[in-house]
Amino acid sequence: MSTGDGLLARLAPTEPIGIERWIALCAASARHGNGIMEVTQRGSLQVRGLSEETAGAFAQALTDLGLAAELRPSILTSPLLGLSTHERTDARGFAAALRARFALHDVARSLSPKVSVLIDGGGALHSDALSADVRVRVGDGDRMHLALGGDTASATGLGWVEPAHAVEAVVKTLAGLAELGPVARGRDLARHAAFGSLRASLADLLLEGPPPEPRQAADPVGTHALKDGQVARGVSLAFGYGDSTTLARLAQAAARCGAASIQPSPGRAILAVGLTASATDEFADAAAAAGFIVNPEDVRRQVIACAGAPACGSATLETRRLAALVARTAGSFLDGSVSIHLSGCKKGCAHPGPAALTLVGADGLVVRGRAGDNPHGRISAENFISGMQKLGASRRSTAVREHSADTIARIGAKGMIEAMGGEAARD
Ligand code: SF4
Repeated sequence: MSTGDGLLARLAPTEPIGIERWIALCAASARHGNGIMEVTQRGSLQVRGLSEETAGAFAQALTDLGLAAELRPSILTSPLLGLSTHERTDARGFAAALRARFALHDVARSLSPKVSVLIDGGGALHSDALSADVRVRVGDGDRMHLALGGDTASATGLGWVEPAHAVEAVVKTLAGLAELGPVARGRDLARHAAFGSLRASLADLLLEGPPPEPRQAADPVGTHALKDGQVARGVSLAFGYGDSTTLARLAQAAARCGAASIQPSPGRAILAVGLTASATDEFADAAAAAGFIVNPEDVRRQVIACAGAPACGSATLETRRLAALVARTAGSFLDGSVSIHLSGCKKGCAHPGPAALTLVGADGLVVRGRAGDNPHGRISAENFISGMQKLGASRRSTAVREHSADTIARIGAKGMIEAMGGEAARD
């Protein structure tokens, strides 16, 4: 897709990428693009700065590395699928069987190109927060739970299936979706009269049972035990991006500590997979020295920024430069209760959800809302930062310490903008 700094390529690797292949991918990113690589909140890998002249060569490099795009519909998998000690069943065989079925039959014909099937192996690094059209989650036994549309909280459950019937159940579900037309998504089918027919067509396969329990939020940043006795260590990319040289060096450090592969993960993170347990701290130290986030409490995780100017042609804000400044200077306000979103325009690519404060474009400020909402007022980048510093300092100096989120709720949007030195919009 076209962006301010050229073409952008997005990959969604479904398994860890061997260290040598990862390093070659980083080199290809620098050779054919501008060397900026991103990991998105959904765990996709993005390579920026390609051009019409270099995109073909980059695609060929991906093919040579075995990383070319999959068949449609796309299959997403939870990180460390089949590897995590928390997974009793290895769902990689199911993923492979599904791919083989998609290759045999043109399942994607008549489906929206956006349709995805998510396979969640039931490990600690689950995918409850990711939305997908068809969700398959391995339960505590072997059985798999099927649901349609949305994330785990909003999806519509279909029921449980035995592993031997799971491929057939997914294919029938996709066929039901295809009948609604080429733009239909999982959530549309869940609300459509055809949902009843789908359930009827799956009656022989579905088993009764309560849906799986919701789980605590998954955090990739930290250490994750693997079935083979090794570990995976997750680190996050500050503001979701890094340069290819640094990312290649990270892989080299991982290899020195025993890792065999690298896996991008939801949460703008990267997992070094297969580290020897005794070398985990050494790897984390190397990652921290290279600027990666190794501590789950790092304040940079509270600041979300899209590519912004100059990388994106739609941007009127240097989001990433500002994000680094916010994290460095407004730490007293970033107490873990708030998230700050810096969006180069109203599209809000980096964070579709609400944030405590969203600076949109040159000077729009949305309080407790989304980038696409009408701004509650205007504020300069300088006042935005100094305002947070001021509020953070006053919070620290009062006897009863109030969380920043509570301060925002108490004084409201207009009060916040005025307290930060901005200009509130007229009612
Ligand atoms: S939110 Fe706007 S400025 Fe930021 S990356 Fe998306 S389109 Fe570009």
